[in-house]
Amino acid sequence: MALFWEQECPLCGIKITDTDRLFATSHFLDSDNDLWQFSDTAMHWDCYAKWEHRKRFSRMYFDTKREWSRQNPFWRVAYSDDQVLVTVNSDQFVDEVDMVLAETGSEFRIPLTDWEGWLSGKCFEDCHHEIERNALAVVISLLRSRLPTAEAVIAATGMEVDAEFEKKKDRDSN
Ligand SMILES: [Zn+2]
Repeated sequence: MALFWEQECPLCGIKITDTDRLFATSHFLDSDNDLWQFSDTAMHWDCYAKWEHRKRFSRMYFDTKREWSRQNPFWRVAYSDDQVLVTVNSDQFVDEVDMVLAETGSEFRIPLTDWEGWLSGKCFEDCHHEIERNALAVVISLLRSRLPTAEAVIAATGMEVDAEFEKKKDRDSN
């Protein structure tokens, strides 16, 4: 997040510091969209949470991510509906899960070997704001039943669980 220091939050105009909780997106809106200047930038989480356009902005971000996910050869979709998108890096040396929430546009990165611990409660510690925790609470039981284990996540993408991954998981959990 160091990239954003010294920039002003576009919602309150106050300079961002390294201790602020920030919400940021990549470039996903072009200048023909009325909210384009808020894409590819960072804002204070507290400003973002109460922003009048937050729901529309996060929905557009989520829909774009979902569209990108259909043609991204590096990230495979494990689960996707209109509330949550779960993709997995198919590179055996990365093994990360990426999760995006439609309600807030929040993105989480979780090492695949940590997936079960994350699902069982660590996920709420990763949240930056109340609205993020609430949005996650809505989808968490669905994720726990659809993707209960790292193996289930891999299988849902259509990839094979290989012996290398099992070894890595054993190593990381010890
Ligand atoms: Zn602000």
